[in-house]
Formats: sequence, structure tokens, C-alpha cells
Amino acid sequence: MSIIVGQVAFCLYRDHKLDGGDFMDFTFTQEEDGFREEVRSFLAAELPQDIRETHFSFLRHSWEQMFRWHKIVAPKGWVAPYWPVEYGGTGWTPVQQYIFDEEAMMAGAPRLRPFGLKMIGPVIIKYGSDEQKAYFLPRILSGEDYWCQGFSEPGAGSDLASLKTRAVREGDVYKVNGQKTWTTTGQHANWMFTLVRTDPEADKPQKGISLLLIDMTLPGVEVRPIITIDGDHHVNEVFLNDVEVPADMLVGEENKAWTYAKFLLGNERVGIANVGQNKAELRLLRALALKQQRNGAALIDDPVFAAKLADLESDFMALEISNLRMLSSIKSGGDSAELAPFLKLRGSEIQQRSNELAMEAVGPRAAVWEKDSSDDAILDRYGTHGWMLSRAFTIFGGSSEVMKNIISKQTLRL
Ligand SMILES: Cc1cc2nc3c(=O)[nH]c(=O)nc-3n(C[C@H](O)[C@H](O)[C@H](O)COP(=O)(O)OP(=O)(O)OC[C@H]3O[C@@H](n4cnc5c(N)ncnc54)[C@H](O)[C@@H]3O)c2cc1C
Repeated sequence: MSIIVGQVAFCLYRDHKLDGGDFMDFTFTQEEDGFREEVRSFLAAELPQDIRETHFSFLRHSWEQMFRWHKIVAPKGWVAPYWPVEYGGTGWTPVQQYIFDEEAMMAGAPRLRPFGLKMIGPVIIKYGSDEQKAYFLPRILSGEDYWCQGFSEPGAGSDLASLKTRAVREGDVYKVNGQKTWTTTGQHANWMFTLVRTDPEADKPQKGISLLLIDMTLPGVEVRPIITIDGDHHVNEVFLNDVEVPADMLVGEENKAWTYAKFLLGNERVGIANVGQNKAELRLLRALALKQQRNGAALIDDPVFAAKLADLESDFMALEISNLRMLSSIKSGGDSAELAPFLKLRGSEIQQRSNELAMEAVGPRAAVWEKDSSDDAILDRYGTHGWMLSRAFTIFGGSSEVMKNIISKQTLRL
């Protein structure tokens, strides 16, 4: 079956007929089609031209563009599709969320940053105190606060339950000591949601962990950059030395954070599949293959390259269908837990393959490390830097090996 789909996709590619979002035969309801039109009109009116052009010129969005876009979407009330309406969410169905994400990515919008909106926001809504909800949720929506995730430590990544950062209750505060690592965009964040050990004597390591919301400006918080293999500053080490965190920044109950962390990581993994973004990347890749020349013809006419592209597209179609399956299951009362690790595994692999093929499309020029002319703009995204950065996709949010372990246990019941 997949061979047949691959062959059909190959022929469509060769004839340059495959276009954007309509190659998958999935029926949306009339209301969903109407909603898609509403989203398209909003994007046509509100998505700034420079942000759109950044994407279609094969460049990466800047930090400033990401936040400008957040602040454009926020007043429309559309930044938090996953939140209940009473807290400022949209009340969209999972299918509507997917449509918004897909349309925004295909139009060239930046991804809304997930740490506040997708990760800690839903946890505060489900487990936080009334005061935490009243204070933090509006600030996440408006973009006033920016969050980072303080889970991993030098000795605790896949085996997160072995984390050692210690929090000791002293009167009205928790005194926190320890080290977090790989903290993405910690240099920009003013808050960090942090897993800490509050009971080192618990009979299971998972039982003695709590979740604290830490103000990054508190004395004793030190952020040090880690420069990754692509030469850029995405991640950090965060040192916590006698940081006094007000006790009312504890989320839920002391020592119960393993439950909250699992809920949060489930949401993170679904997001990391990045189906909308994957689709937009594949369309860009196709545009690149039409533009690039090989042996005097468009690269897309090279049968070997076209076959690789078709193979990638057909795997993406399978991912998209799985995502839609998950959405219909949620729609009829199921949850995303079973498919989340599968989507994370396949989505991150497809993103990596897409980066790799794009680098191949650019050809020997992709090896240039420093751009020396504006003609090399394409290298920002598809040079060696981009490929190197993509190595991390199958590590963060849970490595591929760990996803396979979860699938074998949870889904295959092995
Ligand atoms: C770019 C980047 C950004 C990140 N951002 C954040 C962030 O913002 N906040 C945060 O808290 N963390 C973040 N992380 C950390 C990330 O979640 C961890 O790197 C990840 O969980 C893996 O942990 P580790 O690096 O300690 O590797 P390890 O857990 O030591 O794993 C090493 C290798 O062993 C394999 N392995 C481990 N256990 C098993 C097992 N049981 N079965 C089979 N194989 C196994 C792994 O797959 C991997 O190949 C980020 C990581 C990266 C690379």
C-alpha cells in the first residue's frame, strides 16, 4: 500500500501537480470548512508581510517576529486553543485547533511558543491555586511573561525521576539548591516551571517530587549559555543557589508533581509532532526543489531526488492521518495519551529527514558555515547549521528510544 501511495505521490511530484494542503482525502464538516475560511481571512489581514516573507524566503523567524505575532493573535483571543473558555481559551474542538495550526504554518506564521501556552498553562488550570490562575494565566495569554522548562538535570534526562535539585521548606519559602540543564530559551524567560525534590526519603523516587514556579529574577538564579553544535545559543544551564521561592509558588500538593509532569509531557509530545509545521516545511522543500538546478534542469525533475521527496511526503501523509485519528478520538471522548509518543517519534524523524533532504537540495553550498552574501540567505535554514540543530529533535521532549519504550509498553502491551 505504502509503495502505491509513494508511486502516486512520485508521479504528482514529477508533474509538479502536488499542491499544499489538499493532497489528503479527509472530509471536514461544513462548519470546519467555514472555520478554515475565517482563519484564512484573519491571516490574510493580520499576518505582517515581513513575517510571511521570512518563511517563504527560507529564513528562520527572529525572536522579535515570534513575539510580535503572539501579540497580534492575543487580542483576537486565539493564542490558547487548548485552554477552557473561562480562562481565555477559544473553546475550539481539536479539529479546529489543528486547522488553525495548519493554516498559520502554511501562511508563514511563526509557531506560538509552547512553554506557557501548551505546557505550564494547562497544568496551572488543572492543578494550580485560584491565586496562581488569576495571576499567571492572563500574563501568559498577553505575552507579558515568558516561561522556560526546568526539568532536566545533568544526571536526569530520560530518567527524570532521579532529579536531585533540592527544595526545603523553611517557613514561608522553599530554599532551592541544584542545577537544571538544556533549558531552552532560559536566557529570555522571566519564569521557570521547575521540578524539585522535596522528599528524598520517599520509597519511590517519583513520590518525592514537587513543582515550583520560580521567578528567574530571584537572587541565586544564574543562567549560563550552552552553545550547541550549530553554533547558536538555544539552551542554557540554570544554577539555583539558596533561591528562596515563596511557598505559594508550589503547584498542587507537595510530593505529587510526578502526576502533573506526566500530564505536561503528554501535551508537550503532541505539540512536538508539529504536524502543521512539518507540512509547511515540506511545501517549502518542494518550492526549493523547483528553484534549485541540477544538470541544467529543475532539481525536482531529478528522478532520484523526486523519489526521496515522494517517500518523505507519503510518510508525512501517514503521520497526518494518525494525527487526525487522534483528533477524532479526542472528539469522541478519548484522550491523546496513546498516540502522543508515536506522533512525537514519527514527527521528529520526518522533520529531521526534511532538513536532511533540504540540505541535499542546496548542494555543496550547504557546507558553507558563514554566509558571505545575501544570495546565501537560504543557508540560514537549510545549511549545515539547520541540519545540526535538527539532531536535537529526536532527543528533546523524550528521546526516540524512550518513545519506543513507551509505545511498546503502553500501546503494544509488551
Ligand atoms: C536542544 C535541546 C533542548 C532541550 N530543552 C529542554 C528544556 O527546555 N527543558 C528541559 O527540562 N529539558 C530540555 N532538554 C533535555 C531533554 O529532555 C533531554 O536531553 C532528554 O530527555 C534526554 O536526556 P539526556 O540528554 O539526559 O540523555 P540520556 O537520558 O542520558 O540518554 C542518553 C541516550 O541513552 C538513551 N536512553 C536513555 N534511557 C534509555 C532507555 N531506558 N532505553 C533505551 N535507551 C535509553 C537515550 O535515548 C539517549 O540516546 C533539551 C534537550 C535538547 C537537546
